Amino acid sequence: ELYNKVLELKGNIRVFCRCRPLNSEESTAGASVAVDFECSSDGELTVKSNGAFRKTYKFDSVFGPQADQADVFEDTAPLATSVLDGYNVCIFAYGQTGTGKTYTMEGTDEARGVNYRTLEEFFRIIKEREQLYRYDITVSVLEVYNEQIRDLLASGTQSVPPTKRLEIRQSGEGTHHVPGLTEAHVNNMNQVWEVLQTGSNARAIGSTNSNEHSSRSHCLHCVMVKGENLLNGECTKSKLWLVDLAGSERIAKTEVQGERLKETQNINRSLSALGDVISALATKSPHIPFRNSKLTHLLQDSLGGDSKALMIVQISPNENDISETMCSLNFASRVK
Ligand code: ADP
Ligand code: MG
Repeated sequence: ELYNKVLELKGNIRVFCRCRPLNSEESTAGASVAVDFECSSDGELTVKSNGAFRKTYKFDSVFGPQADQADVFEDTAPLATSVLDGYNVCIFAYGQTGTGKTYTMEGTDEARGVNYRTLEEFFRIIKEREQLYRYDITVSVLEVYNEQIRDLLASGTQSVPPTKRLEIRQSGEGTHHVPGLTEAHVNNMNQVWEVLQTGSNARAIGSTNSNEHSSRSHCLHCVMVKGENLLNGECTKSKLWLVDLAGSERIAKTEVQGERLKETQNINRSLSALGDVISALATKSPHIPFRNSKLTHLLQDSLGGDSKALMIVQISPNENDISETMCSLNFASRVK
């Protein structure tokens, strides 16, 4: 089957691209659209600038401005099944601030995103398999900001930097975990929604400008799944990471100083560490540099080995954003 062939070729890493619609200010200002979806059914999109150049990119799936949350999830859902089958999975949204990373992952009340829909799919499958398996699901929500881990489900998450220092530890079995991180058991979608809301609200606390803060930090949801086969007693453990990455826009070091400079360096470092890990995995390099950032170290169990990863590259259609769009698309091309 073609689908499997794609997986094999990419070392279990798949890449989607999603382009947001022009927003009302852009439309009012008469912004030009620089992204063309003519061939989007084949997973292709073309970036063009004023007829000056054209470049075509190919992805596993491409979602244009009219695609909705359900469309994106339709192609993502097979990974939810994989998690319940015992695979570790990592899904992350990459791109410039304002391109829809949070919209895709978290979504809104009326248009819920990948995080909510993935858990909804879990519970649907769990119900379907209830004669055969019993599952136990816990969710943690954390943030990586300036190479520090903050627990977004812990009470007293007000302080930035956090009072409780969280570190990554490796267990005897070689898996990675964060001792002391809150793990919320969830048994139904009401509980899931509550946990997701708690995490999302905590993210804004302690920062003067919550939008800016969230674009400068990585937000991660870790879903741990324990499965027990009721017929033979065999147990599986798997881990799903859902990641809303910090904005990938390049900020010239000359433009920022002090705290902001450190922040910028940490973001650049962790995103390039992620790119290095992914391209090392894609080229089957013997050394995968997981330890170069908190982000890649955290995700280690769900990147590489027989785990499956999905990167959703978010882009803007606006011609004014074309250089950031090209940077994001080129970053994504490193995967192939
Ligand atoms: P990011 O997290 O990448 O900074 P956001 O998710 O906050 O970007 O998106 C920026 C704005 O664009 C938000 O108001 C969001 O609701 C809107 N938006 C993003 N993607 C879409 C989309 N596909 N459809 C409709 N609105 C979108
Ligand atoms: Mg965001």
